[in-house]
Amino acid sequence: MYVAENDAVAGEEEVLIPCIDKTTETKDKTPFGVVLLGKYELLKLLGSGAFAKVYQALNVETGKSVAVKAVSKKKVLKNGYTAQIEREISIMRRLRHPHIAKLFEVLATKTKIYLIMEFVPGGDLYQKVADEGRLTENLSRQYFRQLISAMKYFHSHGVFHRDLKLDNLLIDENMNIKVSDFGLSAVNKQIRLDGFLHTTCGTPAYLAPEILSKRGYDGARIDVWSCGVVLFALHAGYLPFNGYSYAVMYRKIFRGMFRFPKWTSCELRNLITRMLDTNPNTRITVDEIMIDPWFTHGGFVDPVIGFEPESDKYTARVKELNAFDLISFASGLDISGLFMDPSDSGFVERLLCMERVERIVEKVEEVAEIERVVAKREENGCGGVRLEGSDGNFVVLVGVYRLTVDFVVIEVKSGERGVESGARFWRDKLRPMLIGLAEK
Ligand code: ADP
Ligand code: MG
Repeated sequence: MYVAENDAVAGEEEVLIPCIDKTTETKDKTPFGVVLLGKYELLKLLGSGAFAKVYQALNVETGKSVAVKAVSKKKVLKNGYTAQIEREISIMRRLRHPHIAKLFEVLATKTKIYLIMEFVPGGDLYQKVADEGRLTENLSRQYFRQLISAMKYFHSHGVFHRDLKLDNLLIDENMNIKVSDFGLSAVNKQIRLDGFLHTTCGTPAYLAPEILSKRGYDGARIDVWSCGVVLFALHAGYLPFNGYSYAVMYRKIFRGMFRFPKWTSCELRNLITRMLDTNPNTRITVDEIMIDPWFTHGGFVDPVIGFEPESDKYTARVKELNAFDLISFASGLDISGLFMDPSDSGFVERLLCMERVERIVEKVEEVAEIERVVAKREENGCGGVRLEGSDGNFVVLVGVYRLTVDFVVIEVKSGERGVESGARFWRDKLRPMLIGLAEK
């Protein structure tokens, strides 16, 4: 609760984030100059976190800089977050907003997942406040509006950031904010709460009280709380909840105990107090923030942004595939390996290739015609073909899914009858033709 008569004096408690160690790891083993999948040349390490490292890299085709976030597959798999990450990545790929760092594509090797993102050159807001001190109320408002505009947008698409903090707000060459570190944010948080708290560089200073109490929580409301902490830190130059130990900090968060510096205007006090309301049910919402007098001061127009349409009609199926499926394709484009489905006696096999979905579907139809097998496209617009032996002796189902901008997965499985004849048709007739495509 905000206590007016007890305002902090300038200089008191002004530790920005005492427990953060921003030095990047020195024993990085990445050989620079390496070109990832023929496309991105790694130039330098920008930062490293709980289970990811971020590099500046060069798109060798366009000569443009990108940021590459390398995520260790092992750590993610070990913690069982694959489905969650895949879901968020697939949404992230379609988010397009002037204040959200774009995710261009996702690549993978045996041990790593690479998120290829827009490179944002100006560093993060944590560093800016640490170097230059607190921002004026007007500049704080400018950044805060951009943050809220981005947040309204991603919330409206069912995405919650869950790790909003100064470090995850990057600044571009025009001094505008780009929200970053999405897809993995929820994961980061849980890893930290699960006991990695002391080994990561993070700080729980932005966590809403309902998360600390481990009650169920609403993603939108905890994002509002974190933005309240961000807004406070921007104009104050220090965090609202601090302490010598996590226990002390937690206690302050639970009780909503913070003090404004003396320079905070009345209107700003009112807004921050409503954002740092310990009761999530009465906490101000994003829509209410957008009509708040401090927020709208001088007039605010939210840019109207559309949601990027699917890049082709097949992309929708990406959600059902796991980005980590890529890893099961042992070495890059090696498409060997038959995965028996343990749930029945049928077979499932997946091939990876860089062809267009439509071209693969046409190839399947060509082979079917030559072999006098009946091919029927599934009507769900998802690159699915049902193959039936001419005398009805087998059914094989082919699904073609776009996994990333470059990669397509062909999934072939036995249908309701004729597992053996189906497998034979697949192995002897169809597979050799598709491997030809995949190896091209
Ligand atoms: P983590 O999950 O480890 O926190 P982040 O995505 O926040 O990873 O990245 C760590 C650091 O790398 C950031 O604080 C920032 O300094 C830098 N960084 C991240 N993404 C970008 C980007 N798109 N452009 C430039 N720098 C970036
Ligand atoms: Mg981060």
